[in-house]
Amino acid sequence: MNRSHFSRPVWRRPDRAPPPDQPIAAPERVDLAVVGGGLQGLSTAYAAACKGMSVRVIEALALGEGASGLNGGQVIPGLKYDPEWLVEHFGEARGTALADFAAGTADAVFDLIETEGLDVEHVRSGWINAAHTHTAVAAAEERNRQWRARGADVVLLNGEETALLTGVNGYLGGWLDRRGGTINPLAFTLELARLAAEVGVRIATGVRATGLRREGTGWQVETSAGQTVTARAVVVATNAYSDALVPGLARSLVPLHSFQIATAPLSDQMQATILPHGQAVSDSRRILVYYRKSPDGRLVLGGRGRMSEPRSEKDWAHLQLAMIRLFPQLEGVAIEHRWFGRVAMTPDHLPHIHEPEKGLLAVAGCQGRGVGLMTALGPRLADYVEHGDPAALPFPVSPIRPIPLHGLRQIGVGAMIAWYRMLDGFED
Ligand SMILES: Cc1cc2nc3c(=O)[nH]c(=O)nc-3n(C[C@H](O)[C@H](O)[C@H](O)COP(=O)(O)OP(=O)(O)OC[C@H]3O[C@@H](n4cnc5c(N)ncnc54)[C@H](O)[C@@H]3O)c2cc1C
Repeated sequence: MNRSHFSRPVWRRPDRAPPPDQPIAAPERVDLAVVGGGLQGLSTAYAAACKGMSVRVIEALALGEGASGLNGGQVIPGLKYDPEWLVEHFGEARGTALADFAAGTADAVFDLIETEGLDVEHVRSGWINAAHTHTAVAAAEERNRQWRARGADVVLLNGEETALLTGVNGYLGGWLDRRGGTINPLAFTLELARLAAEVGVRIATGVRATGLRREGTGWQVETSAGQTVTARAVVVATNAYSDALVPGLARSLVPLHSFQIATAPLSDQMQATILPHGQAVSDSRRILVYYRKSPDGRLVLGGRGRMSEPRSEKDWAHLQLAMIRLFPQLEGVAIEHRWFGRVAMTPDHLPHIHEPEKGLLAVAGCQGRGVGLMTALGPRLADYVEHGDPAALPFPVSPIRPIPLHGLRQIGVGAMIAWYRMLDGFED
């Protein structure tokens, strides 16, 4: 990938050194092989090793170069769907368990950071879903009603309160979910890797899993290191970066690009006018923008980007325009970082857990809110690997369903994004 025309993410690396790379120098035999060293893979590996399993993580890039180190660091509890929809859709028992799981995904992140004393900047002052239409306000009211009925620490905001918290004029209202917040996602990924290594997980970076073969009751993973890893179970945690390793998996996802910009550090005076209490925000547009402040006082703003890889700084220009529309006082402030990564969407907007064959698990599709979701999912996947009890998994295991005419669908998504942007423009 050519990185010359865009800069690295704004996120600081932790002071503590990441775990030493442990190359696969000879054939190995472990309880669990994890393909992909993002939050999902590392959280699963850590939880499995805590249970006494021997674990090997195989990561094609460097740690943090997948979505987990590139994201916006917004810790957003819940799923795209509200609790009552989950119960209606999945039935009382499974739907309630899923809503409970979704309610706790932000806790999984903040609890780990705090109990393990991870070197990760974090602010838990909530996530705001800012509403720019009356329809969005009505959706926020409904969401608020449903989560409050379950005892969640959430509150509805009127237009004035939303303006005070965001620093943006023009929202009609919003919804503050105090369970959420912000973290430095790169530091969290690297610190989780360090934690995993401390309990015995061996992590190889720059090594691609290139093939999977049944071996007795387990699996053999072929790698680009030329050595194999044989395991009782394999978790393929490649998400939006999935390749052909698991047949059909990549084609079951719509990988979108999320682009981000970060300003130069802002003066204290300027910072006081933008998110003065440190919340994270996603707006309610069809093609939403999301923003927060970084630990060093920059505005970090993200949104959808072009479907193919960026070619020049101009490919981030729409975000700069969105930023000035929200915060006119930022006109003329330098943009010091531009970067992007892949987000995996699914046609039903739900994450999917697949087990195409016994002992081979793949999880993908977190719709841009995987920081909490994937961290929380790790211990559940480790439980399932240990006991094989489907009740451990929050989502039912589903077959991999490749999207028909996948390549064309991506062109369609590009056109849809342009159309939605136009509709959003009319509503401004
Ligand atoms: C720009 C951006 C902004 C986002 N903002 C937010 C946000 O603010 N809040 C939020 O909750 N979510 C956000 N997300 C989504 C979130 O980052 C992801 O849902 C989450 O990080 C997924 O974690 P993961 O471990 O499943 O996948 P990843 O972190 O992508 O890890 C998958 C890894 O698999 C590796 N891999 C792929 N194939 C192979 C192979 N064959 N062999 C070995 N390794 C392989 C890849 O190199 C990659 O490192 C954002 C995503 C992006 C891209």
